[in-house]
Amino acid sequence: MVIIADGIKLDFDDVLIRPKRSTLTSRSRVDIRKEYHYLHVPVKELVVPIVAANMDTVGTMEMSDSLHDYGMQTCLHKFYEVDDLVDYFTFHPRRNTFYTLGIKEEEVDKLLEVDDQLPDIEEEGLGIHKICIDVANGYQKVFVDHVKRIREMFPESVIMAGNVCTPEMVSELLISGGADIVKIGIGPGSVCTTRMVTGCGYPQLSAIIECADAAHGLNGHICADGGCRTSGDVVKAFAAGADFVMLGSMFAGTEECEGKWEYEGENKSLKFYGMSSEDAMDAHNGGVGNYRTSEGKSMFVDYKGPVSNIVQQITGGLRSACAYVGARNLKDFPKCATFVRVGRVHY
Ligand code: 5GP
Repeated sequence: MVIIADGIKLDFDDVLIRPKRSTLTSRSRVDIRKEYHYLHVPVKELVVPIVAANMDTVGTMEMSDSLHDYGMQTCLHKFYEVDDLVDYFTFHPRRNTFYTLGIKEEEVDKLLEVDDQLPDIEEEGLGIHKICIDVANGYQKVFVDHVKRIREMFPESVIMAGNVCTPEMVSELLISGGADIVKIGIGPGSVCTTRMVTGCGYPQLSAIIECADAAHGLNGHICADGGCRTSGDVVKAFAAGADFVMLGSMFAGTEECEGKWEYEGENKSLKFYGMSSEDAMDAHNGGVGNYRTSEGKSMFVDYKGPVSNIVQQITGGLRSACAYVGARNLKDFPKCATFVRVGRVHY
């Protein structure tokens, strides 16, 4: 029998946040930093929970340097050379950078090689404090085993793993995999074609609401990954319960990006592509393997200036949203926010 899971599932565009009476005097007083304690490691930190995606255009060392100034984090892309990574983690002793790897054995070897070459980890701030284990489909048992293995190798690092979009897999990755943060999003990304190519996916707002509930019940965290096109979408992701929000296209085209810029007179634009697009596979895997199809696309994004411009938009939007619902800080925001369902948001 064919089963259809009933009940409407929603995306960012299907809702708005209802304004509420508030005693806040100024949005500038709203604190958008949040304190985090992690499930498997005794780390306590205060961050602005926005994360740059580990895409080769966006997850750059320059991005990490700039976002650090705003208390935000970056998942480095996984195509840096060992020497560059050793240099970076040695000379930037701070906690806002995730080392990213996938599921391949050679990626584990590279992580161990970088870690081996770092100076003594006891030194203040040095070392790989955060690891992002990223695959397109986090539903395979081998993935959970892989996360568990990295957890055993790095018992003191914060581990983010994904992507999945349903609560049972969030619990599995937190409990059996030993992840601290589970990355949520199958199909919502700006340059993702998974929904079109495979028919699989889940509306992102509902995925966040359902997965946050599962994670928070276990003292774990989720990172909403993909589908935010405006600061309003970032706001909705936090209102839905996301602990962190990961951004690709919103940061694409900023000064800190790497990649191919095209010039037209005074203007320039960046070729921004999905990590499983033909462009990415040409760049990193010598083309699309014949057992798979691409699940990503490419587009050009206009130059946006330094990432600080985008940071300001996002933090401004977040502060203002907190003021609209009477939340003094980001921690209180989901408790204060009420969604209203709309047909589709028209801006
Ligand atoms: P954005 O913020 O641009 O909407 O989404 C960024 C996210 O899209 C990334 O963090 C990643 O999870 C996802 N993504 C990036 N490239 C691809 C791709 O080629 N295919 C799919 N399915 N997802 C992608």
